[in-house]
Amino acid sequence: MSRPPTPFIGLLLAVLLLVFGNAVNREDSVSIVVAGTAPTAGASAQQAAASPRQPAASASGKPRSRPRQPTKPQTRQRSQFRPSDKPAADRSGKSQSRPSTNQQASKHGGTVYLTFDDGPSPYTPAILKILRSTGSTATFFELGSRQAQYPSTAAHIRAEGSNIGNHTYNHPDLTALTAGQIRWQVTHGPRGRCMRPPYGATNPRVRHVIAEQGLREVLWSIDTLDWSRPGTTKIIKAATGPAVRAGSIVLLHDGGGDRSQTVAALPKIVRTLRQRGYMIRRLPGC
Ligand SMILES: [Zn+2]
Repeated sequence: MSRPPTPFIGLLLAVLLLVFGNAVNREDSVSIVVAGTAPTAGASAQQAAASPRQPAASASGKPRSRPRQPTKPQTRQRSQFRPSDKPAADRSGKSQSRPSTNQQASKHGGTVYLTFDDGPSPYTPAILKILRSTGSTATFFELGSRQAQYPSTAAHIRAEGSNIGNHTYNHPDLTALTAGQIRWQVTHGPRGRCMRPPYGATNPRVRHVIAEQGLREVLWSIDTLDWSRPGTTKIIKAATGPAVRAGSIVLLHDGGGDRSQTVAALPKIVRTLRQRGYMIRRLPGC
């Protein structure tokens, strides 16, 4: 007498089937999403090699895209403050390992570009010595005012096979200047074919004057924050972290203050990058 009616059992089975079937489908779709958003190390390396954010082209020609524009520091002492590029530093802090760089190396010539800003200074010869001992070269974005203080350093840099870029005369924020003032800063900066505006601060007016003077604007892709003297270990991590790949342009400083941490970090930076198969070279065309 308590037997449920047959149509009810059929309905129950249909509902169960529907629920169970949906659950299976959801699992499938979840696993697809995971596979798509969490690539393997190999896929990551391929993405890195093909990444449009990679400014490697700026080393061999026009930058495909400039590094993310940093926000201006709120307070500045002349030549002391650098724009922060926290993602690069943070990424490097989280992981010291990275996948094989062979793919990127072949695609970008296997070169990492170290750049030193705000010199020359008493630290520049020590940096040149380290570069020489490792068969490396670099690019120095110097200030005209500092060149005047260390007149022999430019020849020293060039004799070592490194090159010099223009970093203005005395490190103003060019975006706050008129076109005429920008032009004065550029023409009184060091001679060279590349220009790095202080703080990475640029805009159409700045770019126009730089191009008008026959120079190429070069920013960076890896900010080590060495200017803030975070400690040698952190500088090394930033300069060799997972964000660094073939074609990376690494921002370091030989001027603007006490650069002893940068000098102390440099041998391990170069050694680590070379162990990964990278060459350390000056920016071409600068
Ligand atoms: Zn600078």
